[in-house]
Amino acid sequence: MSEELIISKIEQEKEEYIEFLRKLVQSDSINPPGNEKNVALIIEEYLKKIGVKTDIFPFGNNRANLVAYLNESFDGRNLLFNGHMDTVPPGSEEDWKYPPLSAVIKRNKFIYGRGTIDMKGGLAAMVIALKILKELKIEVTGNLILNAVADEETGGEFGTGWCIDNPLKSIKCDFAVIGEATDFFPLTKVIHVGEKGRLIIKIKTCGISGHSSFPAISKNAIYMMSEIIEKLDKIDDYIPKSEPPIKLEKLKKLIADSFPSEDLFNRILNEQPEIQSLLQSLTSYSKALTMIKGGIKENIIPDSCEAILDVRLLPNQQVEPIIEALKKLIRDDVGYIVKDDSTSPPGEVFVEIKVVTASEGSYWENWEESDDLRDFYKLVETIYEKKPFFFLMPGSADAKFIRNDGYCPQTILFGPGKSRNAHSIDENIEILDFIRAIKVYAIFAYKFLSKK
Ligand SMILES: [Zn+2]
Repeated sequence: MSEELIISKIEQEKEEYIEFLRKLVQSDSINPPGNEKNVALIIEEYLKKIGVKTDIFPFGNNRANLVAYLNESFDGRNLLFNGHMDTVPPGSEEDWKYPPLSAVIKRNKFIYGRGTIDMKGGLAAMVIALKILKELKIEVTGNLILNAVADEETGGEFGTGWCIDNPLKSIKCDFAVIGEATDFFPLTKVIHVGEKGRLIIKIKTCGISGHSSFPAISKNAIYMMSEIIEKLDKIDDYIPKSEPPIKLEKLKKLIADSFPSEDLFNRILNEQPEIQSLLQSLTSYSKALTMIKGGIKENIIPDSCEAILDVRLLPNQQVEPIIEALKKLIRDDVGYIVKDDSTSPPGEVFVEIKVVTASEGSYWENWEESDDLRDFYKLVETIYEKKPFFFLMPGSADAKFIRNDGYCPQTILFGPGKSRNAHSIDENIEILDFIRAIKVYAIFAYKFLSKK
């Protein structure tokens, strides 16, 4: 009965929900610098009207995290909804069809703007789900915790990372959903049970500068870098082997389950090199040299050259062995001294290795045994009228803070929006997708919190 009540309330109040999402999109929370407090205040005002108390935790310059609860008791099963309030910068505004903070509605079908997908759509849907349960006064035994966070787009340490260590620390979490966009267009909806880690390393070669008319007495840092690049693939031999949490064949099967037949899936797989390379990237670590910079003038031998190596780790892969492997390669195979910082006397030839950012991956080991997850899956299938599939995320999100260190391993990512359009120009969300996500969140929360 309550499910029908929830659905009919959502159908009646659609327009109000769309306006709430538009308001979130219109408020500037571009990170950097952040300004997430703008969004937190809108959420607070929206929830205050229905008697939900919110705690806002300000920090920095106009930044904040927010926590709100459905009720006062934490003795039953607690469900956590997590969504980030910050967005990536829109880039050049002239490239957009409509201004990025306008939240223009087109053809009554789409809302345009920075953050519609990543992830004010998912965040708004979670806030609304909390409001629905509160307003319908549905009796539950557990508690719904809403956590709207800052800083996700710049690492998450001051957002989800901080919340888990502070206001949420003493609260037992039994299941968590992060509302990131998980529509795998042209495939169906995805429920992510793991994510890869990310390691950004700066490699700096330090040589000796000199006049380019007699290069022999100098040491060209660009040449040094090219020697490293040439041997870079050998690093794979030095990195301890890590098993992917889900093997390639199993991953294929997980996607195939969402297709009418396995034959059809195999046909599509053969025609789509993009899906093949995605599957490949989810079962192995990967590395890519993404930036290089060297030289200051056409007639000077450069004494420094910098490159950025972007490494994506499997969920169980550690950062340290990768750094050690790179150092070993440069020392033993290329033959240069390796240092952690470049404050050395001039004239010394060496290579500096620095970690720019490091975030480990995460994975929910026992997801296949969870009844709650099965319920979630079935609900998505019913609401979206299509089978979703379980998968791993190639990128990295805030789930590591919640899953790792044992806080709440049973964390999934699921939300409205096509994930490939996140961070893009003309980012837009389909209104139907947004409304469906509200239904999934609200009904799942109701069912989850009613279980004893
Ligand atoms: Zn996001």
